[in-house]
This record gives sequence, structure tokens and C-alpha cells, in this order.
Amino acid sequence: MKRVLLLATTTGYQIRSFGDAARAVGATLMLGTDRCDQLDDPWADHAVAVRFIEEPQSLRQSVSACLAEHPDAVLAVGDRPTLLAAHVNAALQLPGNPPTAATRSRNKLQTREALQRAGLPSPEFQVFSLRDDPAALATRAGYPAVLKPLALSGSRGVIRVNDAAEFVAAFERLRELMASPEIRLERDAAHDAALVERFVPGAEFAVEGVLTRGAFQLLAIFDKPDPLDGPFFEETIYVTPSRQPAAVQQRIVDAVAAAAAALGLRHGPVHAECRVNQTGVYVLEVAARPIGGLCARCLRFDRPGLVPAQVSLEEVLLRHAIGQNVTGYRRERRASAVMMIPIPGRGILRAVRGMEEARAVPGVDGLQITAQQDALLIPLPEGHSYLGFIFASGEDAAAAERALRDAHARLEFVIDREVPLVAAP
Ligand code: ADP
Repeated sequence: MKRVLLLATTTGYQIRSFGDAARAVGATLMLGTDRCDQLDDPWADHAVAVRFIEEPQSLRQSVSACLAEHPDAVLAVGDRPTLLAAHVNAALQLPGNPPTAATRSRNKLQTREALQRAGLPSPEFQVFSLRDDPAALATRAGYPAVLKPLALSGSRGVIRVNDAAEFVAAFERLRELMASPEIRLERDAAHDAALVERFVPGAEFAVEGVLTRGAFQLLAIFDKPDPLDGPFFEETIYVTPSRQPAAVQQRIVDAVAAAAAALGLRHGPVHAECRVNQTGVYVLEVAARPIGGLCARCLRFDRPGLVPAQVSLEEVLLRHAIGQNVTGYRRERRASAVMMIPIPGRGILRAVRGMEEARAVPGVDGLQITAQQDALLIPLPEGHSYLGFIFASGEDAAAAERALRDAHARLEFVIDREVPLVAAP
């Protein structure tokens, strides 16, 4: 039996789905995580305690802990584990991504530099220290611009600015976010800087794929039908298949494959984001991991062969990781969509009404509220979570998207204003 080590910061749906996939494939799955204290031993097996903080000492210890498990393959779920996965694969001489490529793909500045060097379409960009004086920097940026941290994810800290005054306000806001204890805890030097790049107008797409020794295989292109024009960039709806003409889809695939190669990524899952306009396909990032968390639930693949069967994204990736040929797996014919339910405003979530009505909308396959009751909801750019997810499918992309919007319209979120803490006299 092949032993697959899954490196993950979360312990939710995607991990369980990999567990199901391992049972279907006949592989032994081991979990490496920095959350060992919070686990209830998901596969009645111990989890390997690792740390995803990228300091040499902690990395060496984590690599050793992984090697002791003698994995035949290593997979990363989430951004932070991708570097450790690359190191373990390199140490075992397994096919994977070179650690330098994993580092590059996690760092927005290094990504920009690599794509520009490769001659791929790139917005103009500059890097600033967060200790600099924003008023002086504001005169050097071209507008509209996007200000962003180098190494956060999920659009956290990403802010569009249209002029110098907005630049200064956004810079202060980003500086405050990057000084928060939770982010300082990562002790990542990249968190001391910010990237400023020209705003790229256009439609946005997400691409799911897998690399096999440098060859890119497309698994899905998602349209993002809601405009993402800022000032914050909250993800909402992803719909696949794309409604773009075949030629545009091909340009998107070619651009993502070229960007992955420019970053030096070679083997394993990739998730990319790009914007498309008349001047080209601008790849914003290529992450060396699958699409995040619950979103993967909207992807189902037809297994090639005589017996019709559908499998999860996780099963395709697990089969790929243990060396099976997955080139025959195709996403199902039906259209599929997911909504990351946006946070309407900051406050305490008291209740969600209309869930039964939303679930009853034809085409809706699932609704899950992931925010805890009485939790403080923090919208972007400071926050980094969603209220939950709605899944839908349909004969075509428009039907799946419509089902999501109908279901969302039936939901009502009861959110109380945060009670301010009053200092004792
Ligand atoms: P993250 O990795 O945190 O998601 P990204 O750099 O991918 O950060 O940016 C998040 C979102 O912000 C993108 O999906 C896009 O909608 C928007 N965005 C980022 N950079 C630009 C840009 N230069 N022009 C236009 N939109 C951008």
C-alpha cells in the first residue's frame, strides 16, 4: 500500500475527503499538521506534528518528522504547507516542486519578478517597506493601483487605490493589519513589505490543474461572474465550465501553464487566478496546492473506463500523487458552481434565517454555514473567512449560477453591532 503524507493547516472537509479518497484508492494516508493539539485523530492514527513557520531550524525538524513516516508521496493542502511538501519531496527525491519554486509561488513579489522575467503579461509593480512614509510613496505609484501584502492569501490586505489620498489611507490600514499578533506570529520577513501594482481591468478566472513532471493538465476553469473591481476583492461565485469562447479558454490555459513553468513549479496540484482583457491574460498567482477548502466540493470527475463513476478532486489528486495516470479524468458534463457567502458587514453573527428555503431552491446541492454562531465577523480586507458556502449544479453555467443567487437571496443574516469595550473609569 502506498503511503501518502498530507500536509495541512486545517482539519476540515478537504482532509476528510482525502481520507475517503485514500480508502477508495487503497492508499494509506498520514496527516502532518501544526494542529495536533486540536485533532480527534481523524484516521485512528497519530498525526505527525510539524510546523509551517519557514525558519530553517523548524523546517529541518519538520522535514525529519515527515521523513520518519517513510511516505511514498507528499501532498500540501493550503498555502503554508507547500514549502515543507517541496522540501520533503526533494529530500526523498520524489517528483514534486523545487523548494525555490514553492517559495516563489507563495511570495507575490517573487511571483511578479519571475513572470516578468519570462516575458509574461504583468502589471507594473514596486515594492515598499511598510516602515516607509506613505505620503512620499504615494507620489511614486501609478493609479489606479492595488496595494497588497507579499505573503497573505484569500485577498486579505488587498486594496485598490485610485489616488494618493486613498494610497495613504490604505497603506496605514495594511500596516496595522500586518502588525497584528496573529500575523507577526508567522515571523515571515515578507510581512514587512507591501507590493503596489497597477490595477489590471478585466474579467477574472480561477484555474484548477495538475502538473506532471512539468506538463500542465487542466482540471477546471471557473468564471467569476461578479465584478472584482475593488476597493476590496471578496470572492463570491465560481462557475464551471467557463462561458468564454474556446479560444479565450485556451489562452487562459496556456498562460497558466507558462506562469507555472516560469515559477519553476513541476509536479502536483496547482490553483491559479488570472485576469483577462484585450491586452492579454495576466496571471495573478499560481499556488502549488488545490483549490481551498469546501470549494473543491463542486468539482466531480468522470472516471475513465467501462464502469461509470464519479470521483472527487481529492481522489484525482491522490491517484496522481501515487503515480497513476490521471490524464483520462474529465470534469463531469453538468455545470457546477459555488458561492463563498460574503460577509455583509462587521458584527456578531446571531442567526441565519431562510436556510430551508435556500436548500429547497432547484439546483442547489448544498448549503453550509461555516461561521460559528456568536462569532465576530470581520469583512475584508482584515478578515479572512466566509460566512459559508452554497453549492449548485445545472444543465448549464447560467442555471447553476442562477440557483446560487436564488438561494442566497433567501438567506437572512442577523448580525449585531459589536459592543465596544468601555474602559473602566
Ligand atoms: P491573494 O493571494 O490574497 O488572493 P491576489 O494577489 O491573488 O491575493 O489578489 C486578490 C484579488 O485581488 C485578485 O483575485 C483580484 O481580484 C484582485 N487583484 C489583485 N491584484 C490585482 C491587480 N493588479 N489588478 C486588478 N485586480 C487585482
